[in-house]
Amino acid sequence: MDFKKVTVAGSGVLGSQIAYQTAFKGFQVTVYDINDEALDKAKERIKELKPRYQADLGATQQEVDAAYERLSFNSDLATAVADADLIIEAIPEVVPIKTDFYQKLGPLAPAKTVFATNSSTLLPSQFAEATGRPSQFLALHFANEIWKNNTAEIMKHPGTDDKVFEDVIAFARAIGMVALPLQKEQPGYILNSLLVPFLDAGQKLLVRGIADPETIDKTWMVATGAPKGPFAILDIVGITTAYNIGNAKAEATGDQEMKKIAELLKTEYIDKGKLGMATGEGFYKY
Ligand code: NAD
Repeated sequence: MDFKKVTVAGSGVLGSQIAYQTAFKGFQVTVYDINDEALDKAKERIKELKPRYQADLGATQQEVDAAYERLSFNSDLATAVADADLIIEAIPEVVPIKTDFYQKLGPLAPAKTVFATNSSTLLPSQFAEATGRPSQFLALHFANEIWKNNTAEIMKHPGTDDKVFEDVIAFARAIGMVALPLQKEQPGYILNSLLVPFLDAGQKLLVRGIADPETIDKTWMVATGAPKGPFAILDIVGITTAYNIGNAKAEATGDQEMKKIAELLKTEYIDKGKLGMATGEGFYKY
């Protein structure tokens, strides 16, 4: 693995975390975003990560400060990528925005540079051509709160070079992730391919009136030894996100049960300010 210099493009929720985690593990990282205002926000967001690393990982003040020092910020794309070995893209989940970004990036980045997308729902093959270097492009997908929830799903598209795939797997390990290689494209990767149907099944049991959330969770936990059931997980994901996903699915498929679920989440939870763990109450009280 020859990656030394990393550029993270897009410094929002996930981009900030990816940049800081990579720097924390000793890499020089350039953070790129569309303008200086966005980069100023990123600086604040990243500074707020320092106490989280101290509290959650036992990192020292010196370590969290040194990690921050390894970051540089630049809103000029050509400069931000001039010397990059790896570019991790974490810009909005909007196809034309990503396509446009890769079309601009391709001619600016050095020939050696590998591109990775952190996209949650889009497939790398959708952008492979726009990158101008399909063999050096793949997905590298992190979870929110990357320093604790340290999964990295690494997914090839049909044109990804095997050496590039192996290098990105090694890089993921080098920045403290549990590397999870996917040999083929799969919408939702491994995690959401398992989790989304599981959460849907729990919510369907609820709207069918089969049992209450506590009983559904308890069944799963006692029978399998899992620490949480679907409703405790939904409280962590956040009821708003669950509603958005369910509502979109109901509209796309006409699934009446999904519609009922979305209505329940809206009237009984969102409208009452019960948005999950973040607000102290969702299906459970915290
Ligand atoms: P976000 O909205 O918090 O941040 C996006 C950032 O991209 C912003 O700082 C914005 O200024 C910047 N941006 C917009 N257009 C740009 C461009 N053309 N070039 C460079 N930067 C640009 O989004 P996010 O939640 O961090 O998500 C980013 C990506 O990460 C998405 O593909 C998303 O699917 C994926 N992702 C998000 C999560 C999550 O929990 N939020 C988890 C895993 C993966």
